[in-house]
Amino acid sequence: MQRHELRLAPVMAPVLPVVDLVFKRYAPRTRVEFTAGREWFHHGRWSLHHSGHALDIRTRTLPDHGVGALSARIAKVLQEMLDARLGPKRYRVLYNDQGPTKPHIHIQFNKGARMSEPGDWEAGNRSNLA
Ligand SMILES: [Zn+2]
Repeated sequence: MQRHELRLAPVMAPVLPVVDLVFKRYAPRTRVEFTAGREWFHHGRWSLHHSGHALDIRTRTLPDHGVGALSARIAKVLQEMLDARLGPKRYRVLYNDQGPTKPHIHIQFNKGARMSEPGDWEAGNRSNLA
């Protein structure tokens, strides 16, 4: 899926370069593939996908097929880097939250810890950005 097809909320845009960076470092041979989640595992469970406030990263293509130490490490580093670069707990990374038979990394905008409403971002007002 192409990135522009994900139809992500603007608040998710800064996540993409961080994902690229982490994959480049930990899995340089693996092409990063996103899925919007709509087609995948989250039907009716994660409403954040429906509004574009969450994305899934395909991990089956990683050397550990998304279920080993490398994938777990990538998920952990992603959380740490998102916290460090975009603000603590603004985003939440879930590693294989649907179990090992559906390997993926899910990243969502953390509605519980934000400093502004999504509407602030969509209006182009970034003054609340820490
Ligand atoms: Zn998801």
